[in-house]
Amino acid sequence: MVVDVSRRRTADAGAEPPLTSLRERAAPAAIARIEGPAVIEVEDLTAYYGGFRALDDVSLQVPERQITALIGPSGCGKSTLLRCLNRMNDLVKTFRIEGRVTYRGIDLYGKGVDPVEVRRRIGMVFQKPNPFPKSIYENVAFGVKVNGIKGNVGEIVERSLRAAALWEDVHDKLDQSALALSGGQQQRLCIARALAVEPDVILMDEPCSSLDPIATLKIEDLMRELAKEYTIVIVTHNMQQAARVADYTAFLMMRPDRAGELVEFHDTDTLFTMPRDKRTEDYITGRFG
Ligand code: ADP
Repeated sequence: MVVDVSRRRTADAGAEPPLTSLRERAAPAAIARIEGPAVIEVEDLTAYYGGFRALDDVSLQVPERQITALIGPSGCGKSTLLRCLNRMNDLVKTFRIEGRVTYRGIDLYGKGVDPVEVRRRIGMVFQKPNPFPKSIYENVAFGVKVNGIKGNVGEIVERSLRAAALWEDVHDKLDQSALALSGGQQQRLCIARALAVEPDVILMDEPCSSLDPIATLKIEDLMRELAKEYTIVIVTHNMQQAARVADYTAFLMMRPDRAGELVEFHDTDTLFTMPRDKRTEDYITGRFG
């Protein structure tokens, strides 16, 4: 994958500057622009929990039908950034943002935007699989009914379970409790549950951190398959996982004042093989974090 380097400011760019906006010209070389359309655009995002600034001035684009990984040391704001993408932090009373997050041109935090609809279109899968204490079928059907998704519920359940690579495992025990499934199966069930309400984007917050290596690889294969149809953003503390699955990778870091900063954003190959920022290089070579 090639990043449009003509838009980046380079140290030896002595000739005429390209015809880009001032904003683009001012962008640091470590933040690349994506190829193709962006589904979500984050602009100058600063996020606070009360008086604590968790993220400072983050700007990046989330490319359509690609996997974008957010990596960085613990506490640098990866989950906070992910949660800003579907207003998941609305439930945290002290939380507020400055800047903008737009989804397909709509200001997600704008007046009249329904956060429930935001979370239907931009679904989330959590670190620990969290199926409801209900049957496998009910887990997937639940959101379909609540959101009034049109169509035959049984067919939607089957389609979602197939898309989550779980149908073969569970088709003959749909009425059994979801809690009896293995951890990896439960996580795929949660992915099926997210898919059933017809999302556009799927956010995944360390979806494999509680799984064994085989279950992890299954989820990674599934993510690659899903990226043919969906836009995926994943938080991972596992750099190898980012290198294996992600098309683009964002590296965040905590500054001395503890605010999270986006240090570098590139296609994954560039980020891991030719990082532009010394801090990225130090992190991916294991010098800290
Ligand atoms: P990461 O995902 O990179 O580990 P987080 O986004 O979870 O980082 O956290 C970033 C910072 O925000 C941390 O200092 C964390 O303690 C703080 N934080 C996260 N959630 C909350 C919350 N609900 N209330 C207050 N502070 C929070």
